[in-house]
Amino acid sequence: MADVVGQEHVTRTLTHAIESGRVAHAYLFVGPRGIGKTTLSRIFAKALNCEKGPTPAPCDECDACREIMAGSSLDVIEIDAASNNGVDNIRDLRDSIQFAPARSRFKIYVIDEVHMLSSGAFNALLKTLEEPPAHAKFILATTEIDKLPSTIISRCQRFDLRRIPTTLIVDHLRAIATKEGVDVDGDALLAIARGADGGMRDALGALDQIISFKGTKVTEEDVLAVFGLVSRTQLEGLAEAILKGDMPKGLKIIDDLDRGGKDLRRLAVELMEHFRNVIVRQQLGAAAASALDVTGEQMTAIDAQAAMADTPRVLRVSEHLADLEGRMRTTLSRRTLFETVFLRCCRATSATTLDNILKQISNLKSQISQGSPSQVSQGVAGQISQGAPSQVVQNAPAKIPQSAPKAAAAPTGAAKNAQSVPKAVAAAEPETPAQEASSRMTTASRGAPPPPSRVAQEAAKLFSGHITGHIPPNP
Ligand SMILES: [Zn+2]
Repeated sequence: MADVVGQEHVTRTLTHAIESGRVAHAYLFVGPRGIGKTTLSRIFAKALNCEKGPTPAPCDECDACREIMAGSSLDVIEIDAASNNGVDNIRDLRDSIQFAPARSRFKIYVIDEVHMLSSGAFNALLKTLEEPPAHAKFILATTEIDKLPSTIISRCQRFDLRRIPTTLIVDHLRAIATKEGVDVDGDALLAIARGADGGMRDALGALDQIISFKGTKVTEEDVLAVFGLVSRTQLEGLAEAILKGDMPKGLKIIDDLDRGGKDLRRLAVELMEHFRNVIVRQQLGAAAASALDVTGEQMTAIDAQAAMADTPRVLRVSEHLADLEGRMRTTLSRRTLFETVFLRCCRATSATTLDNILKQISNLKSQISQGSPSQVSQGVAGQISQGAPSQVVQNAPAKIPQSAPKAAAAPTGAAKNAQSVPKAVAAAEPETPAQEASSRMTTASRGAPPPPSRVAQEAAKLFSGHITGHIPPNP
């Protein structure tokens, strides 16, 4: 039972049931494909029927154990419900179940993909589950519990198998490779685990396939070629380009990947997972190392990148990527879409956040209520040019005017200048350089009437409902 990797919550309970002699007559194993349901069913069958048992540690040597491993035991009947889903198949089962086991302790029925049974077959199975003979045991397995009638579920002891953590798969693969005398580097094992997506069976199959193809030395590149995956360093390089706003570097990586025939949709998913890890690292600090399912090399990169941008920005990047993954299914040009979203992600990390701007505005308000007019105007100009005006206008057109007009309640001297606040913010349309806003602010503070530029007119239109009274009339 200890051979089942990553499902300790299940094996512990089953072990206890066997040791205490309280084995139920029907079990239901639930979980995605390839995470060990079939393996667990066979091991459990051995545990029940081993000549030296029932025991949680079957001997693997007696006839019963060997026959079960070879799939030739007369008393362990495996049924694939995907191809034997009719009511007749279950009636056959009901007829045969009455006979005592041929040689073993129990007659064990393993029904895989049980959700595929027809409704007639479910009814027949239900009757059997209601009153099974004492020598019969059922092990049902399914990837889709939602398709199983609740009457069946309630007759079974249910166990939900987990997706196996990547690090566990890597460790298990490493142990096998060492035993086989194969030299596989850590990133290659990680790539296999990533490709298998939490499924041990797929991971073992892939390792087997690559070893038979490559011999005794396997590199990350060999594995990436099999799965169409992106290397760890390329993935992390692209993430870093986003966080640093380094568009040329990122576009170069995307070009390389696209030419290499990599799966860009899969890349989008993996990037999203990477940024999710970065956010967890930012929130948990050093404790993240034990909470995240990553290898030591991955953790080093996550540590470094967590310091490159704050959580709201990384969150915005994740949102763009989540959106990308959905749109990738239908787009005609995945590469173009990917590049566009990459550029948006770069902007998301380099732009200032709305929180920052609101904070700056509230700082300004307190300066206005205490400070001299010229100071204030310089402050506004400086802070506006620091921020990203386009974000303000895009994200919260209604919020800025709310806070800004309050500034007009300041002493008369400052009030004149304070009137420029909403205008300056509003004037900074996406295509308007912040410098223009700031130079106009300076003019205003010298007392000259601000020139009614096209931008100011646009701004007046934009905020007409809120700040009409603060826009100077056209001469
Ligand atoms: Zn045995």
